[in-house]
Amino acid sequence: MIDLSIDRDLEARLDQVRRLGREHLRPLGIEADRRREPVPPDHRFFALAWRMGIGQPLGVEERPASGPRTGARRGVVLAEEMSYWDRGMSVAMPGLGLGGPPLLGMGTPEQKERFLAPFRDRERPHWAAFAMTEPGAGSDVAAIQTTAVRAGDAWVLNGAKTFISNSMRADWIVVWATVDRSAGRAGHRAFVVERGTPGLEDMRYEHKMGLIAYESSSFTLRDCRVPAANLLGGERHYAERAGFKGAMKSFNATRPAIAAMAVGIARAAYDASRDFARAHYALDRAIPRYQRVREKLARMARKIEAGRLLCWRAAYLADLEQPNEIEASMAKAFAAGMTGLAVEILGDAGVTADAYVEKLYRDVKAMDIVEGTGQIQRIVIARRLVGLPR
Ligand SMILES: Cc1cc2nc3c(=O)[nH]c(=O)nc-3n(C[C@H](O)[C@H](O)[C@H](O)COP(=O)(O)OP(=O)(O)OC[C@H]3O[C@@H](n4cnc5c(N)ncnc54)[C@H](O)[C@@H]3O)c2cc1C
Repeated sequence: MIDLSIDRDLEARLDQVRRLGREHLRPLGIEADRRREPVPPDHRFFALAWRMGIGQPLGVEERPASGPRTGARRGVVLAEEMSYWDRGMSVAMPGLGLGGPPLLGMGTPEQKERFLAPFRDRERPHWAAFAMTEPGAGSDVAAIQTTAVRAGDAWVLNGAKTFISNSMRADWIVVWATVDRSAGRAGHRAFVVERGTPGLEDMRYEHKMGLIAYESSSFTLRDCRVPAANLLGGERHYAERAGFKGAMKSFNATRPAIAAMAVGIARAAYDASRDFARAHYALDRAIPRYQRVREKLARMARKIEAGRLLCWRAAYLADLEQPNEIEASMAKAFAAGMTGLAVEILGDAGVTADAYVEKLYRDVKAMDIVEGTGQIQRIVIARRLVGLPR
């Protein structure tokens, strides 16, 4: 069973997003794409959205004092809508982003208080980031090489991280490192590395083919001394060997929202290709070519509905704190593959450089890579179906 209800508060939030989307998210996303430059953090739109309480939609919330959790479902609904307007902009928005789940899921009360405090300031937008990927460790996160060595009341980090969303503008970054490379996942530790920490160096911007509105950056950690108090969850957390589970838990809380972003992109592509087909093809005529176009539109509409339901189901389970790995992987594997149909519908017009669907096609490609590639999702599903361990 899935609760598909949208309460009045969420409906009002969706209305706000639609307004912001039409007026700001889509125009800014297209402008960033044309200029090949991310939207700078001091852009006045971010301050406006932040004051309205609209930030990155990643379906994370602190456990409510009473009543059921709804954060994951709210997250997928908002993520789809924001990405319908522009997925690059939805990640460029201020907020905790992927840094949120590990802080909220593993952080001590003192750490939550300290690192969430700036995010309560509505005057100036704030960002956080999550850094797991390294030049030699992407899908195989157990292979990370960044080391963490205890030195008195600090930890010293050495290594390199790559393709980290918003890290250039983040107040702090959750950096994953290992205390024992031979221990695999059990050796992982997460540290909150604050902006300006000496040794957090060489921050550089990576040029992407799509999703230009937000920046992806790589950086080096060179004898970077992080206070012991910034070890996420404290020593006890890891004594209970929960280090890697912390990262994986956050993946499953956020993967349905990432999948919903791909659904949003597909919806935008569907609208654009339907409008194009109406304007350029005689869709009411029994001409085989146009019958095929009608059939493609219908196929896309079916897939969007199915993709959305997969996301909602995975998010619903996350809210119930039930295992959702297979559902989240199915949603993610399915959702990233729908936008190509829109390009087909437009024919040659779909691949011209100023076609909107061409931009969406480049944007959605990254959705098949981030938070677990399509291949990895399919492997996860297949292994689970035949009862193999992960
Ligand atoms: C837009 C964008 C934003 C990102 N944001 C962040 C971020 O904020 N924080 C962060 O930590 N990372 C981030 N990443 C990095 C992302 O998580 C990695 O790119 C992803 O995990 C894949 O790793 P990789 O690129 O090293 O590819 P690899 O893991 O090297 O994979 C290369 C290819 O091999 C395939 N492959 C890998 N292993 C297997 C296997 N066992 N069996 C079959 N095929 C396999 C993959 O599917 C892929 O096709 C981002 C990436 C992108 C593109």
